[in-house]
Amino acid sequence: MRHVTILGATGSIGASSLDVIARHPDRFALFALTAQNNVEALADLCARFAPAIAVVADVAKESALRDALRRRSLSTQARAGADALAEVAADARCDTVICAIVGAAGLLPTLAAARAGKRVLLANKEAVVCAGSLLLDAVKRGGAELLPLDSEHSALHQCLAGAWEARRDVRRLILTASGGPFRTRRDLSRVTPDEACAHPNWVMGRKISVDSATLMNKGLEVIEASWLFNMGPDRIDVVVHPQSVVHSMVEFADASVVAQCGTPDMRTPIAYALAYPERIDSGSTALDFLALGALTFEEADLQRFPCLALAYAALRSGAGAPVVLNAANEVAVEAFLARRLPFMRIAGLIEDTMERVERFAPAGIDDVLALDREARGVARVAVERLSALAAG
Ligand code: NAD
Ligand code: MG
Repeated sequence: MRHVTILGATGSIGASSLDVIARHPDRFALFALTAQNNVEALADLCARFAPAIAVVADVAKESALRDALRRRSLSTQARAGADALAEVAADARCDTVICAIVGAAGLLPTLAAARAGKRVLLANKEAVVCAGSLLLDAVKRGGAELLPLDSEHSALHQCLAGAWEARRDVRRLILTASGGPFRTRRDLSRVTPDEACAHPNWVMGRKISVDSATLMNKGLEVIEASWLFNMGPDRIDVVVHPQSVVHSMVEFADASVVAQCGTPDMRTPIAYALAYPERIDSGSTALDFLALGALTFEEADLQRFPCLALAYAALRSGAGAPVVLNAANEVAVEAFLARRLPFMRIAGLIEDTMERVERFAPAGIDDVLALDREARGVARVAVERLSALAAG
């Protein structure tokens, strides 16, 4: 029996994880569920899954969470704040932690889970982008097990049969990208948040949906793959594959390529990581190859989608560059979703921030957090300047 904590239980990955867990009451029990501030949604999940603890990140919502649990006559204990998130991630009563908070906000509890030696199921790619070396170090020292939930990295893990550390025969990793909702749209000057979030193949949270529309999501995934599979940027390629059936591929020294396929449904990588090395029912439907007909592949257009090139550049320059890239992107996406920054300005804002912030090499977590704060400050000033200009 695995005892599971879900960080970010009210989100899209949280919902898919709970769906898989609910199919296997003989294998999984919930220890803790967390959310940023939606206490009613969190309490509803507690009513269904009866975890020992519920945590709301926003401390101002602690009494509201307590009330919501009491109204539902639940014995789940209410807690609040960043420390409580890290504590439920490290608690001895759980052995598996699903890291599904969006953004760098998930970094500290993810590190806490790794240090405490948990099976860490990582969806929160921003955490590994910002602190890849610290996270891997914490995994090693804590005796944790890190399994990716991102569909591409789950695919790579499956193609490598889990044994990448021992392999010397991998030539390159090939990440597939759907191309997002604007793959074939010529004019991106008047893109709205809802259009950017209308992904052709996947239903996801709004931040990652915008990242998919700019291709920054693929850029973050290249950096994620570089850490998780210990590969330099020259051995990680991206190919656009609009059907999202091949989730990624590994090319070996003999020119053989192994691909992992499936319907675009996050429950498959979640079930894989939860039960690894076994396979369990995920609830996803299997592929119907005859209905699919053709699978197609094309080059990523770095002129139209410069965010992917920015991410490769950040990975190549190393040190703190990925931290700045990620922070500036989070600020830019938030501003775009609030209709304060045009879609076409996202990449420029990130590039400017990367030029302005001194990217020292972070020596530890405090440096990462300081660099993240500084980059956010610089990016926010740029958003203010641009929206003042636009207001005329
Ligand atoms: P989402 O917005 O649907 O959910 C985010 C969750 O995190 C929510 O439970 C929210 O309450 C919580 N949260 C947000 N900000 C927080 C904060 N500051 N402190 C504490 N909790 C906070 O996002 P999602 O689509 O589920 O994505 C989650 C992560 O998984 C992201 O890093 C994303 O890139 C990654 N991911 C998602 C998918 C997908 O299909 N949705 C696929 C691959 C990777
Ligand atoms: Mg992905």
